[in-house]
Amino acid sequence: MNCPYCGKPMRPGWIETRGERLSWTPHGEKKGGWRWSVSSHGIPLGKYSFFRGCRAAADYCSACRKIILSGIDL
Ligand SMILES: [Zn+2]
Repeated sequence: MNCPYCGKPMRPGWIETRGERLSWTPHGEKKGGWRWSVSSHGIPLGKYSFFRGCRAAADYCSACRKIILSGIDL
């Protein structure tokens, strides 16, 4: 994928955890007390496994230092 800001090729990779679920949380909400919790209007990112954690595909632009999630797996 090319960076939508500068047009240069982006480096593919992952944003990942060991045990926690990744999610986007809107301002004013809290994620919750469990490591797999997602806030009421939050968006889970990547596939979650209780033992392996979570991994969301993401591309990185070294010129802009921006990371873009490649997609949202529910
Ligand atoms: Zn860029």
